[in-house]
Amino acid sequence: MSSKLICFEPTCRAQFAVTEVLYNCPKCGGLLEAHYPGWNLDPEPVKSVWRARRISNAPLDQSGVWRYREIIPFLENFDHVVSLREGNTPQLAAPAAAQYGGLHRLTFKHQGFNPTGSFKDNGMTCGVAQALRLGMKRVACVSTGNTSASMAAYASAAGIEPLIFIPHGNISYGKLAQALEYGARTFQVEANFDQILALVRGLAEGLGIYLLNSINPFRIEGQKTIIVEMLDQRDWNAPDWIVLPGGNLGNTSAFGKALRELKHWGFIQKMPRLAVIQAEGAAPFYELFRASERRRLEPVGHPETLATAIKIGDPVSWPKALREVEESNGVVEKVSEQEIADAKAVIGKCGIGCEPASAATLAGMRKLTAEGVIERDADVVAVLTGNLLKDPDYIYRYHTGQLDAPDGTRIRSTFANQPIVVPNDPERIASLL
Ligand SMILES: *Cc1c(COP(=O)(O)O)cnc(C)c1O
Ligand SMILES: [Zn+2]
Repeated sequence: MSSKLICFEPTCRAQFAVTEVLYNCPKCGGLLEAHYPGWNLDPEPVKSVWRARRISNAPLDQSGVWRYREIIPFLENFDHVVSLREGNTPQLAAPAAAQYGGLHRLTFKHQGFNPTGSFKDNGMTCGVAQALRLGMKRVACVSTGNTSASMAAYASAAGIEPLIFIPHGNISYGKLAQALEYGARTFQVEANFDQILALVRGLAEGLGIYLLNSINPFRIEGQKTIIVEMLDQRDWNAPDWIVLPGGNLGNTSAFGKALRELKHWGFIQKMPRLAVIQAEGAAPFYELFRASERRRLEPVGHPETLATAIKIGDPVSWPKALREVEESNGVVEKVSEQEIADAKAVIGKCGIGCEPASAATLAGMRKLTAEGVIERDADVVAVLTGNLLKDPDYIYRYHTGQLDAPDGTRIRSTFANQPIVVPNDPERIASLL
């Protein structure tokens, strides 16, 4: 079987070999998507193979991405795969969060249990495998967030050099710390995000650098396995709704592609509906979805939200994401900083926890059930995208009443849990217990 990259633009549909180094369609600039001509998957035997691999000790089978390699067949062989045992993330029941979200039951699929603490690992193991297959010696991305942390880990594990480019003076310390520790060379450039991306693209050619930004079609293939693993864990009973936060919209694109492919081959009979949640200060996809004619996404010039993983004003994957939300009969919602902060504390108090962007899911569900869009007895899976410890500063500020929204207004600490300062006096402490 030969894999292809096909231009996503309906008026173009140009085809390229997967072994070409491409980021956008060279003809029209459109997004590229992996396709597999002659692909054939028989669900029952494949489901059995996938289940059997769960008790295998082979590294490829232990990976929650490569265990499902039949759904991402873009490599001829697996010589170049570097796995850190990504995926394998739990589904957690959360009754208190369900109640807060207006639901009878709710399950979180927690991608924060990944090796570097976010779902970026599901895609990055594929992106780095592709880089190695292309003979690249270096990989690069423009990001201070979870993409940098993940790329740094996978590239270093693979023995190639990770290069991270970030706008000068725009640093998120938790995630940057991971990138430094995993050995990425990090450049702070005196320019904005778009200027840096153009600069890196220019440098990449000729220097053997492969770009692993969010539009990379192989990262999207890897992220499809989040859905495959979710359905495998549910014995292939598709939920009514899958709720996720939306930033650059790569994950929305990946989830929709996975669901369409699984439905096409007969792994599932029903198409779950996608609910994408954005932060109010960075909600261009919400605005596009609400428009009477969904022609073009209008970028937000200065996106603002404390949920930095979804602080994206011009999401690159919007054309794909729009198709996937429409095809799944899905919805797009937006939530405030206050709603994200309170939802996050509720998820924490379930003993689960997540980073701010992930909590947009519960905040969004609360709105969507109140509006009657999601029914109270619906079977809902929300994807928590990142680990609690990615952003401890936010948490401390919330629980001590010091969290300010980007516009300077103080966020109410509805579920504050303050540390209590006490003297070394057993009676005084006992009186507080
Ligand atoms: C990257 C990221 C997102 C946004 O995902 P997109 O694919 O860009 O929409 C949300 N949450 C976390 C924790 C992330 O790392
Ligand atoms: Zn094209």
